[in-house]
Amino acid sequence: MAYPKASLDSRLKSFRSEKVPSNSPGPSSRPGRNTRMPARNANEKNTKGKTTRTPSKRAVAQRLQSLQRAGVTHIPKAAQTPNTAQLPDADQQPSGEDLQIIAAEVAQCVRCAELAETRTQTVFGVGNPHARLVFLGEAPGADEDREGIPFVGRAGQLLTKIIEACTLSRDDVYILNILKCRPPGNRNPLPVEAANCREYLNRQLATIKPEYICCLGSVAAQNLLDTDTTIGKLRGKFHDLQGIKVLCTYHPAYLLRNPPAKRMVWEDMQILMAEMGIELPKK
Ligand code: SF4
Repeated sequence: MAYPKASLDSRLKSFRSEKVPSNSPGPSSRPGRNTRMPARNANEKNTKGKTTRTPSKRAVAQRLQSLQRAGVTHIPKAAQTPNTAQLPDADQQPSGEDLQIIAAEVAQCVRCAELAETRTQTVFGVGNPHARLVFLGEAPGADEDREGIPFVGRAGQLLTKIIEACTLSRDDVYILNILKCRPPGNRNPLPVEAANCREYLNRQLATIKPEYICCLGSVAAQNLLDTDTTIGKLRGKFHDLQGIKVLCTYHPAYLLRNPPAKRMVWEDMQILMAEMGIELPKK
């Protein structure tokens, strides 16, 4: 959906004043599912006869509110950009201000029909837009879907401890996921969903321009590096992604299930911090 550039306040006002269609579903009793798009009247034929999905006014109003909470004040027209697995060329990279533009596009995205229908909101990313280091996970879970912020559940709290053990804070780094929408039941992202969302990830990375990416878990590592190699073999050394140094390690959720693996994650963090020139306190 493309809007002319307009004040978010005026957009919200106009949506609030419009009556929600009687066939729109009410809030669900299931947590994180209270903005399901209507099952009926959600699909329309475009001029080429192909089926397109139209979000309900309720869903659009909630997305606008979510954007407003994130500090977005205007919505640009949606840009047509190629879905590519490559990072944009350096001379085509957008400026640091463009994260808000990308976030506004993501908030309207319905490329993955199932995820767009079941998400509460998109989870774009959080942190320093000029971070040297980006942490990349696989997809939002229930807590993240509810809060609109990546890594806020138990695994997120453990990630925060890992970052702090590296003498950094969440405000020093940028945290994001391969997918911006929660897969139902926390299933793994489908390849087609990861491909759909890759353009947004590429544009985020092209805007932030990190020197380092730390992939958390096999889904993030294998998707980013386009490999089938296991996380056990990927971890512990740097990989190159068009000049960005990528270090892979285990996902914090795995550490919650398997605490002895924390030692290996700490070894990986020591490798990463040494490369970044960050001195860690002696333990
Ligand atoms: S996962 Fe990404 S591509 Fe798919 S609907 Fe969400 S924002 Fe769009």
